[in-house]
Amino acid sequence: MKHLKNYINGNWTDGDSGSFPVYNPATGEVLATVPKVSENQVWAAVDDAETAFLSWSRETAETRSNHLRRLYDLILEKEEDLGQTITLEQGKPLKEGIGEVRYGASFVQWYSEETKRVNGEMIPASHQDKRIMVLKQPVGVVAAITPWNFPFAMITRKIAPALAAGCTVIIKPASQTPISAIKIMELVEKAGFPKGVVNLVTGDAASIGKALLDHKKVKKITFTGSTEVGKALYREAADTVKRISLELGGHAPFIVFDDAKFPDCIQGALASKFRNCGQACISSNRFYVQKGIQKKFIEKLKSNLKNFRLGNGLTSGTDLGPLIDEKAYMKVSDHVTDALSNGAVMEYQGEVPAKNPHGGGGYFYPPTILSGIRQDMKIYREETFGPVIPIITFEEETELLTMANDSDYGLAAYVYTQDLSRALKISEALEYGIIGLNDGAPSTAQAPFGGFKESGIDREGGSYGIEPFLETKYISIGL
Ligand code: NAP
Repeated sequence: MKHLKNYINGNWTDGDSGSFPVYNPATGEVLATVPKVSENQVWAAVDDAETAFLSWSRETAETRSNHLRRLYDLILEKEEDLGQTITLEQGKPLKEGIGEVRYGASFVQWYSEETKRVNGEMIPASHQDKRIMVLKQPVGVVAAITPWNFPFAMITRKIAPALAAGCTVIIKPASQTPISAIKIMELVEKAGFPKGVVNLVTGDAASIGKALLDHKKVKKITFTGSTEVGKALYREAADTVKRISLELGGHAPFIVFDDAKFPDCIQGALASKFRNCGQACISSNRFYVQKGIQKKFIEKLKSNLKNFRLGNGLTSGTDLGPLIDEKAYMKVSDHVTDALSNGAVMEYQGEVPAKNPHGGGGYFYPPTILSGIRQDMKIYREETFGPVIPIITFEEETELLTMANDSDYGLAAYVYTQDLSRALKISEALEYGIIGLNDGAPSTAQAPFGGFKESGIDREGGSYGIEPFLETKYISIGL
């Protein structure tokens, strides 16, 4: 069996605390073992990253740009292999794995250009013999903690702007999916980044998290993951007043008005719900469908879902892979059972494939449509993270808006209507950071991605995404 290593200060390193296995969620087989680092190793990695910061932060924008551009080119050369790695450890169909690689690469490309535009400012002073100069400077060593659902893109979406800003980085990937992260490190090495600029540690989340939070030289945490863990990190970051950016959970409303265009709203619903088997933070989780169109909407969805194929993501023609693990499967099943026992109607459910005989893998959940969803059901409030469409019927726009905003989350919302005035008014009134207006796939490198309320702090992507890695310094100059 393959044993893979961490990448610390330019060296391929084993863990002082042993190793752990990585599973293929489609089959349950062990793909590789990866290191478990000790707290001491994390402390040392931060010290190395701090040393590297002293020179990387002083590099010219052109040098940083060239490194990122090389990394981008290397990623594209390897997109097939990287896509396969994502499918093997995370489960999504290969076409989605390759799609994730391209999406992830687009951030590296975008920030290879943006690094040249980290401009300061001269502000007119109140005295003739004074000048006011504003500089943007990198915050320092950054700890990037990432989830399993997009094991490649969630890393590049963080490290590209951090490196472009002049920061150095310690990455802690999710324990279910560290192999994609290790593959990124191979390309980082090949692209010629100086030692210590990009580092990767794998292992026990609590002990790595503690070391990163306790170490004063870590100046910033950038985290993507659950709201629960995000809140804990937010609290703990207070002790050393670290900067923190949080990309957390979501519970997206998908709103379909009577005048919605077909098949656009169906395609949008399928894209926003079934990408990665519903395991995306911007997956729609509440479908508000206006009464007059509900029957047609459900029928069209059903006829599309009949052609969906569940299976191993490496098998060609697969539309839906497995859920990540047993816990994820149990959560989806629980949401569906809870809804049905409280009066929801099962409108459609695909065939349930047999579980993997080896156990531990192959947690396939079939595409499911439920109607009659009410606010007191679990599925209405909690992130389901599975291929289930829960439908809520509405009649009036005013009641719809109150319901759609009735969530602690505020990441993404989708609206389908052809009425321009209504479209703009509702987009402005929705308390969400991302609105897909007649668009089921709004993510792109140049746009600000992030949430309102408990879905997070700060934005990733575009010029907004580099700001959280920069400090603002003001120099008052007497002439
Ligand atoms: P998670 O359980 O919060 O884990 C995320 C990362 O945090 C993993 O690397 C995990 O390590 C680590 N972690 C856990 N406890 C920690 C601790 N005490 N200290 C430091 N690190 C710790 O989330 P997940 O299940 O991987 O991901 C799914 C969640 O991510 C969903 O809620 C989804 O909505 C959200 N998400 C949000 C966005 C966005 O952009 N807003 C994007 C994608 C996903 P281990 O794996 O080793 O436990």
